[in-house]
Parts: sequence; C-alpha cells; structure tokens
Amino acid sequence: MSSDCVFCRIVRGELPASVVFQNDEMMAFRDINPSAPTHILIVPRQHFASAAEINDQTAPLVGRMMQIAAQIARDEKVERSGYRLVTNAGPDGGQVVHHFHLHLLGGRRMRALG
Ligand code: 5GP
Ligand code: ZN
Repeated sequence: MSSDCVFCRIVRGELPASVVFQNDEMMAFRDINPSAPTHILIVPRQHFASAAEINDQTAPLVGRMMQIAAQIARDEKVERSGYRLVTNAGPDGGQVVHHFHLHLLGGRRMRALG
C-alpha cells in the first residue's frame, strides 16, 4: 500500500474507475487513456512495483490475474479475434505507474513486437 500510488488509490476507492471485475485480491478497470478499443488494466490489491518483484508469495496471484484476464477477454468479446496481455517493467519497458499491472488490449490488430 502506497499513499501516493494511483492504483492503490483506486483500490482504496479514493479515485473513481470504470471497474469491470473485482474480487478480494485484484481489480480490473478500463484504462483512462486507452490504446485499443478494449484496454483494461488488471491490478492486484496488494502493492508491488513490477514484474521484477514477483516472488514466491505473489507468483500464484499473478497466475490468477492472467486467468481473470482471459475471462475478461471472453466477456469483452475479443477472445475469438485475439488480444494482447502485457506488463511493462522499468524505464525501458515504458512503465509509468509503479504498481504491478497487466494490460489487456484487444479490438484492433496489434503491431509485431520489436
Ligand atoms: P504503464 O505504462 O505503467 O504500464 O501503464 C500505466 C497505465 O495506467 C497507462 O496506460 C495509463 O493510461 C493508465 N492510467 C494512469 N492513471 C490512471 C488512472 O487514474 N485511471 C486509469 N483508469 N488508468 C490510469
Ligand atoms: Zn500501489
């Protein structure tokens, strides 16, 4: 938990968000500045900075986040057309919010990575 972390503030209900899923350990809400027709962030309630900090305690949670992301993709009707699940870590990864999250991107054809 971090008082100045924007995703902790959303998790605490201090900032509004367009929530599409939540349970006791994660929230999923629409990105405020979407890069694709479907752009949803899957965020653990527990604060840790990035994929670089995944450990034995959080690894099962990260697996469940990917499972929920796939479920949300079905709900968003992008399962058949396909989608991208991505997490940015650190400066070269382009990470802006330093609270681990997955991006679920769909509804348009993604460019090849490179
Ligand atoms: P990053 O580059 O850290 O992986 O991505 C952070 C994402 O969080 C960006 O796509 C950005 O648009 C989104 N974001 C930043 N602040 C907020 C916010 O207050 N609400 C929502 N819904 N998304 C946010
Ligand atoms: Zn946080």
